[in-house]
Amino acid sequence: MAVEPLIELRDVNKHFGALHVLRDINLTVGRGEVVVVIGPSGSGKSTLCRAINRLETVESGTILIDGEALPAEGKELARLRAEVGMVFQSFNLFAHRTVLANVSLAQVKVRGRKRGEADRRSRELLERVGLADQAEKFPAQLSGGQQQRVAIARALAMNPKALLFDEPTSALDPEMINEVLEVMLQLAREGMTMIVVTHEMGFARSAANRVVFMADGQIIEDRTPEQFFTAPESDRAKDFLSKIL
Ligand code: ADP
Ligand code: MG
Repeated sequence: MAVEPLIELRDVNKHFGALHVLRDINLTVGRGEVVVVIGPSGSGKSTLCRAINRLETVESGTILIDGEALPAEGKELARLRAEVGMVFQSFNLFAHRTVLANVSLAQVKVRGRKRGEADRRSRELLERVGLADQAEKFPAQLSGGQQQRVAIARALAMNPKALLFDEPTSALDPEMINEVLEVMLQLAREGMTMIVVTHEMGFARSAANRVVFMADGQIIEDRTPEQFFTAPESDRAKDFLSKIL
C-alpha cells in the first residue's frame, strides 16, 4: 500500500560535539500513520523529535513536512513548524495563565485568530480531552494527567497535520497514564498522523502501525508491532525488550 508521506527524513545526521546522535536517519511517516519510537535512554529519540520540529538543527540530510523541506530559519520555518504539534514529557504549560488561555495563546499569536474564536476552539478541544470544566483553573490546580491533556489540546488547537509526543506519560503517576493514552488512542483512531516516543507497549500494540527501534542514533528496526514484539530481529532489540517487558 502506498501511503502519502507526511513526514520524511532523508539521510539526517547530527552530532553533539563528538557524539553522533543521529546517524543516517531515513524515516517516512505516511498521512494517518502512527509510528511508535522506542529504544534505550540516550539513543537519540528526543533529538529525532526535536529535529523534526527544528528545535534542533541537523548537519546534513533533509527533513520534509508534507513535501516541503524544512528551511533553516525564517517565516517558512515558522509556518512549517506550526504544522507539527509537539507534546513533551514535562507539560510546559504557562503557570500564570488559565487552562483556557494556555490553549488559546498560540492560536492568537501564531495562527492570528481573534481571541473569541480561539477561546471557542479551545473550549471544544478541552471538551474533547475531557476537561471542559477545568478551563478557568490554573495548571497547578490540575493533576499531571490533566495538565498533559491540556498540552495535547494546546497542540491540537493549531490544527497541526501531525503530532509528535516525546514520552508523554513518563512524568505521570501510574494511575494517570491511561487517561492520557486514551486521548492519544482516540486521536490515532481519528486518523491523526503521530510519532510517539513511549515505552508503553500496550499503546504501541493497539495504536501503532509501525514500531521504530533506535539505538546509538540509528534506526535498527522499523516493523509492525506484532513483528517487533513477537520476533525482534536484532540483538539490541531483544536485549532491550527483555529489560522492559
Ligand atoms: P533519548 O531521547 O533517546 O534518551 P536524546 O535524543 O535525548 O536521547 O539524547 C541522545 C544523546 O545526545 C544522549 O547521549 C544525550 O546525552 C545527548 N544530548 C542530548 N541533547 C544534548 C545537548 N543539547 N548537548 C549535548 N548532548 C546532548
Ligand atoms: Mg528522550
